[in-house]
Amino acid sequence: MPARRRRDTTIGRDERQLLLLNATLSHAVQHTPFYAERFGALTQPLTDVVQLAQLPLLSREELESHSLALLARDRVPVTVAMTSGTTRPRPLVTFRSAGEGTVRNMLFASLAAGDQPRPLFLHLVNAGHGFDVDAAIPGAFQVPLERWFHYQAVLDLLEGSYSFPGFASRVGGLAGALRLLKALTVLCIENDVDPGRFEIALVSSSSDHLTSRWRGILSSYWGAAIDDVYGLSEVPGLYARRCLACNHFRFSPLAVVERLELGSDAPASGPIGRLVATSLFPLAAMQPVIRYDTGDVIEVALEACPWHEEPGFELLGRASQLVVRPASTSGPSRVLLSSILLNEVLDSIPDIAVSEYGFTRGLGLKASIGLQKWKLQQSVRDGVPDVELGLELRWSPREHPGPAEALRSEVRARVLAARPALGRAVDEGGYRLTVQLHEPGSTDFWALV
Ligand SMILES: [Zn+2]
Repeated sequence: MPARRRRDTTIGRDERQLLLLNATLSHAVQHTPFYAERFGALTQPLTDVVQLAQLPLLSREELESHSLALLARDRVPVTVAMTSGTTRPRPLVTFRSAGEGTVRNMLFASLAAGDQPRPLFLHLVNAGHGFDVDAAIPGAFQVPLERWFHYQAVLDLLEGSYSFPGFASRVGGLAGALRLLKALTVLCIENDVDPGRFEIALVSSSSDHLTSRWRGILSSYWGAAIDDVYGLSEVPGLYARRCLACNHFRFSPLAVVERLELGSDAPASGPIGRLVATSLFPLAAMQPVIRYDTGDVIEVALEACPWHEEPGFELLGRASQLVVRPASTSGPSRVLLSSILLNEVLDSIPDIAVSEYGFTRGLGLKASIGLQKWKLQQSVRDGVPDVELGLELRWSPREHPGPAEALRSEVRARVLAARPALGRAVDEGGYRLTVQLHEPGSTDFWALV
């Protein structure tokens, strides 16, 4: 494919985004008690998107504790959604009004080129997270995957031939959280389902980090292109897909994104930064989300993109799960290790125990799929930062000391090789990396990546 520069024609970092941002702010101040109090002094519209940085940040704790004061008084919710409280004591409940999904619908409609039929999608949904009004788009079949009959319904829907006006006759896309795609794919493989029965051209994975091993499994079974999507359900419009030209993530123009320093609230000076996002009106009109500190850290790609003026980015993971070398005279702060990187390395090591996904219990899977049981811990020993990676194994390291020692060295070598900056820091004696192996069933480790 010849390299060509394509201008971003969507609303991005220009007057249209500024217009929507001012609409977002004025709606929030006029209709929600929370923002009326917080931005009360804000009387003039912003004249540049960068002025957004003058407003205070919104933390996850505030979103939880002020969720009712954040609701707009001029709307009625049609749905609530929740993000799991697996790493926190309570789930986060968010409210959505009618009409917010309309923007998504229009976007999807605009994806269809000219008079080409629009694609039919099968969207695997997690019924446990509430009904997703934004995902109710024409031509997308939403199906849960928690019971054997759900699986049979999925196969029927994928095999069906339809004649909806303006749409393709077969389901051509499969979308959903990676854990659901994994369960469906493994079920099909275990039951000898011939993928030739389907016409899936695109598999779009979200919610969980897609490792290269799983990308390979999905691609070889479905014979489809694999798309990888990043977003947070509590921030409507915060949505990134991989660029077809450079393969890095790019944000949709439906949210304003900022990158802040890891250790302060100043704009990031280097490529790495904490992601702060603002949903643009009319998204999140029911519960405005302005300067939300997502807790996720991204790294801007070093190489330029042939299609876009700005480079794409990669997700590094939760700020709380990063090993960061602080800024010093020798340079800016650097990420030495992240949960995403560890997931990529450890996903292909079958010796690590797995905590099975609860939703798979009613599916009759033979293989065990779930979250790997590992944990990254940091401390300081004799003045040297100590990074300890704990792994719970499927077999007893105490009873098999030889294989345990070999595995420990292999894991350590693979982690060091995956992030050369960590390798150098360890070689120079500035950091220590140890791998601890634990007996089956002895830990509460849980790698939610
Ligand atoms: Zn690109």
